[in-house]
Amino acid sequence: MADNTPDFDAIVIGAGMGGIYSLHKLRKELGFSVRAFDRAAGIGGTWWWNRYPGAKSDSEGIVYRFSFDNDTLAEPIGNNRYINQADMQAYLESVVDKFDLRKDIELNTDIVAMTFDDASAIWTITADDGRSYTARFVVTALGPLSTTYFPDLKGRDSFQGRLVHTAAWPADLTVDGKRVGVIGTGSTGTQFICAASKTAAHLTVFQRTAQYCVPNGNGPLSEEFRAEYRANHKQIWDGVWTSYVGCGFEESHVSAMSVSPEERQRVFQSAWEKGNAFRFMLETFNDIALDPAANEAAAEFIRSKIKEIVKDPETARKLMPYGYYARRPVSNEDYYETFNQDNVNLVSLKETPIREITSAGVITEDDVEHELDILVFATGFDAFDGTYRQMDIRGRGGRGIREHWQDGAGSYLGVACNGFPNMFMIFGPCTVFSNLPPGIETQVEWITDLIKTAVDGGKTCVEATAAAEQAWTSTCDQIAERSLFSKVDSFINGGNIPGKRKRLLFYVAGLAAYRGKLAEVAGSGYDGFVLSNSSPVQAEHVA
Ligand code: NAP
Repeated sequence: MADNTPDFDAIVIGAGMGGIYSLHKLRKELGFSVRAFDRAAGIGGTWWWNRYPGAKSDSEGIVYRFSFDNDTLAEPIGNNRYINQADMQAYLESVVDKFDLRKDIELNTDIVAMTFDDASAIWTITADDGRSYTARFVVTALGPLSTTYFPDLKGRDSFQGRLVHTAAWPADLTVDGKRVGVIGTGSTGTQFICAASKTAAHLTVFQRTAQYCVPNGNGPLSEEFRAEYRANHKQIWDGVWTSYVGCGFEESHVSAMSVSPEERQRVFQSAWEKGNAFRFMLETFNDIALDPAANEAAAEFIRSKIKEIVKDPETARKLMPYGYYARRPVSNEDYYETFNQDNVNLVSLKETPIREITSAGVITEDDVEHELDILVFATGFDAFDGTYRQMDIRGRGGRGIREHWQDGAGSYLGVACNGFPNMFMIFGPCTVFSNLPPGIETQVEWITDLIKTAVDGGKTCVEATAAAEQAWTSTCDQIAERSLFSKVDSFINGGNIPGKRKRLLFYVAGLAAYRGKLAEVAGSGYDGFVLSNSSPVQAEHVA
């Protein structure tokens, strides 16, 4: 490096919600020169890529947004309780325009490598076309769910129809009048199933693990609701910051087994009628994700609904979920009702696994060939660290992030790793378990303050210590141990990816506790971070 003046004060990788807000904050609050990059052809991150039929928020729309823009906060986005993909995209475009961010965002740029220079404490980031740029600070707003999991099922590439992953939905693709197959019944698959069943000629659902799904109560926002939200939006947002998941409602303080079976039934029924998965899991009782008995009560309630709703007993039997109700909770419009439609059939892969994909469709082990025009993989993501591992990220001494995380991913506070100074992650491993937008705002604001403290103090290098990273990661492990989320394979613990080391990659103590911890760390002068000048002391590395 010829001199120590980087191209930019900061580089932001990703132009989803985390990247957009980071770019805005670093420019506005710190007066930084910033360039943001995204591999997509447009801004929006998750909301740019996930354009499959039915894609929408499943936190309620009034809290699935930025809260920092007071001018617009009192007006709900879109017309429904949940924000659909198109409205979300339009909203994010409007934010980017309003704050004049577009000029500092470079799209169609896939950043494949990042290297830290020990002597200057400057990062060089490199795109796949060979272009490279330098910056003092890098914010990796890569998205916790951006590297798709696309299992290489036998014969996958021989399919002659359209084969797509939901997170790379082509703009020209419609399911209308088509014979469609979908593999996967998670949050994405169930949204897709409900929407596609309305217009596809036929929909075949390939289900591996049956899903616990509750109604979402979606529908148009009434004028009355809008007026009430306008009047109370400040209180609602105050409640978000002090709640467990930041979903805009007060979580229950009552344990499920402390009330009578009749009362439990009443509470579950009321939540079922109101709709929303997070409400069903957390507004009903405080221990559904903690106490096996409470969990089973909720699970049994959902099973009773499946029995009630699904007309064909054989289909109902296949749809019955067993085991802990402890994955990211799912809700939808009329999920189980969808299986009463004549144009929808269910294949249980537990009973009849996929033998192979052919040019015409999918053959299952019962020798049935399911002929399809479109085969959709709603098979999820290699979450959190998956995207980091795709990149060649080299910190102090040329040490790679893959090596750093060879025994499993971790971090300090979900934002920083020892040996990777001046690199700040938005929703990195061991991040807060919460509704994404408030979690993102929390982290971006805190990281901005940390960088400001360093810059104001004339420091050029900010690095988490190995001890702090180890302690935070094991705190997350310990809290996770008490949660049933760690007992069921899912993207939350890496169990959805064959061979990935299982570790609950969230701080499951929730948003309020997380914000409390961040405030404590900032108040202590950033305990667990070393703020120094270039050529800093060699901090010890996490083994
Ligand atoms: P997911 O929850 O990981 O679900 C993946 C699905 O694919 C599961 O049903 C899984 O079955 C199935 N699958 C994976 N590999 C398979 C294979 N080889 N054969 C057969 N089935 C296979 O992924 P997702 O549905 O995309 O959701 C991931 C997360 O994205 C959500 O939890 C949520 O955080 C986010 N999301 C949010 C929204 C929103 O509204 N805000 C919408 C969509 C997604 P098994 O269960 O048997 O593993």
